[in-house]
Amino acid sequence: MNTPLRVPYHRPSIGPEEIESVIETLRSGWLTTGIRTAQFEKEFREYVNAPYAQAVNSCTSGLHLVLAALGIGPGDEVITTPLTFCATVNVILHVGATPVLADVRSDGNVDPESIARRITPRTRAIIPVHLAGLPCDLEAIGLLAEEHGLYVIEDCAHAIGAQYGGRPIGCGIAPCSTAAVFSFYATKNLTTGEGGMITTGDEHLAAKLKTLCLHGISKNAWNRYSDRGSWFYEVLEPGFKYNLTDIQSSLGLHQLRKLDGFTERRREIAAAYGKLLAGCEELELPPDRNDVRHAWHLYTVRLNLDQLTIDRAEFLAMLQEAGIGTSVHFIPIPLHPAYAAWATRPENACPAAMALYPRLMSLPLFPAMTDEQVEYVAKTVKHLTQEHCTMRCLAAAQV
Ligand SMILES: *Cc1c(COP(=O)(O)O)cnc(C)c1O
Repeated sequence: MNTPLRVPYHRPSIGPEEIESVIETLRSGWLTTGIRTAQFEKEFREYVNAPYAQAVNSCTSGLHLVLAALGIGPGDEVITTPLTFCATVNVILHVGATPVLADVRSDGNVDPESIARRITPRTRAIIPVHLAGLPCDLEAIGLLAEEHGLYVIEDCAHAIGAQYGGRPIGCGIAPCSTAAVFSFYATKNLTTGEGGMITTGDEHLAAKLKTLCLHGISKNAWNRYSDRGSWFYEVLEPGFKYNLTDIQSSLGLHQLRKLDGFTERRREIAAAYGKLLAGCEELELPPDRNDVRHAWHLYTVRLNLDQLTIDRAEFLAMLQEAGIGTSVHFIPIPLHPAYAAWATRPENACPAAMALYPRLMSLPLFPAMTDEQVEYVAKTVKHLTQEHCTMRCLAAAQV
């Protein structure tokens, strides 16, 4: 029997507006992609200030669609980060290309200097991940892309609401971004249960994504042959079934309108954690930068393991015991059996990511968290660090 946690790791903020809107869509008789998805695409495009937006049924399918639309395939190499969800790497494998791992900086984001060392004549694209909602060094990545003629496909699963260089992440400005792909999975900052969005500034790519998203049936084919009757269609190239439904989009429209409020609350909670955990030498607080706007998707602390008598797994188990849900972002790609054969080769070596991994611990952070819950989590974490602190043990032994 599972008793509910005192502080769950996540709880989505679904209000009466979302619920009413979904019911309205169900009553409308139009369930799949239609006017609500078109409206969601329009409002999303305006929110991130991008010329084009294509709704998809997940971030994973969006990343796959972009790689396919760009013609990336066998013989091509795509550079990404080891500190990501498996989806980022799976899509590269699904198009038949070769994933190449670049190491990370101390903030957990991919290191442009490591990317530069991984570029070969076969490299076609870079997939940076804005880990936890903290933007990557897009300027440096953009310079590399320009110099070597590479595409940049941003994995923005954590980054809706983030800003870089005073602009929203996903605004579609090349060479820093060929396309940006967002996730609306249940735990993400904006959710449709499952869903995603691709934004781009490239008109040709946008048209290709639209066709490939729905079996490769061209809208032009409809128009061209409409005189034959509404039953007629032609498949111009074999595509995918990656469209977002109007049920999901009606949810997303309301989530998007609330997003700035959600982000503000996330920032408040992160600041409260920062204050409450300050001075706790057994852990390092999550990185932030003044020149960007952090989306605060995750609040990932780093344990100073040399100052603790317990490891991360024991720490997580104790938090669970205290009724606090936690997570780890992420298990590095080389540690998964499915990838080990290629990902552990020297050319993919990522010592910084591997050293960071055992220290990573994501605490609950969601807009519906109460101040009392934030204080309880911080108090419990602080208490555990003090109780299992090496220095204190040494000091106590000396008395
Ligand atoms: C959640 C996540 C994805 C996958 O998103 P889906 O919408 O579930 O497909 C991809 N990359 C990262 C970094 C993620 O956290």
